[in-house]
Amino acid sequence: MSCLHSSGRGGGQKSESESKRTGAGPSHATPRNTDRGSNSAAALALKKAREAGLRVGNEGDTLTLEAAAAPPQDVLDLLVRHKADILALLRPAEDGWMAEDWQVFFDERAAVAEFDGGLPRAEAEARAFDCCAVEWLNRNPVRSPPSRCLNCGQAEHSHDPLLPFGTGSSGYAWLHSRCWPAWHEARKAEAIAALTAMGILEPRTSR
Ligand SMILES: [Zn+2]
Repeated sequence: MSCLHSSGRGGGQKSESESKRTGAGPSHATPRNTDRGSNSAAALALKKAREAGLRVGNEGDTLTLEAAAAPPQDVLDLLVRHKADILALLRPAEDGWMAEDWQVFFDERAAVAEFDGGLPRAEAEARAFDCCAVEWLNRNPVRSPPSRCLNCGQAEHSHDPLLPFGTGSSGYAWLHSRCWPAWHEARKAEAIAALTAMGILEPRTSR
């Protein structure tokens, strides 16, 4: 059986989400509208929409919805409320992938781990998330000049040379070997934050 795509919902009608009057008005924005906060609210709204069986897309500045059945009102409200941030999420990032691409990648990895690898769902999702983090790091490589350490900012010492980390195609980041673990942890945190902002949430597992 093919489990890669859950294409169970046959030909959903396309229905424009009417951009209700509330759609455009950032005028009443709360004072503390941090980017990250509104981003993850938008990501959560997208996630809820997907869970309700909606496909959210965009044509220019209009959100489009595909659904096999009438979408729940609370989900519609969320989409309207976070419309601007959702549109931002639907635009491809610098690495060329948008939130939808990450969701597809995650779903595929989880399905492979669950059905081909025979893992329990929770573990399969944890595995899929790790794959997303690795993929994000590969798609967002960091390069630095070989003159100083990217982590501590210091030049190389005779007893502590700078080493190149990375690949020939992505370029290299130069670090002291003792600085690499901390730098790598920070990079992983960056990947997790970026994925979270796109609605790919780190599964809570008891590892
Ligand atoms: Zn260093």
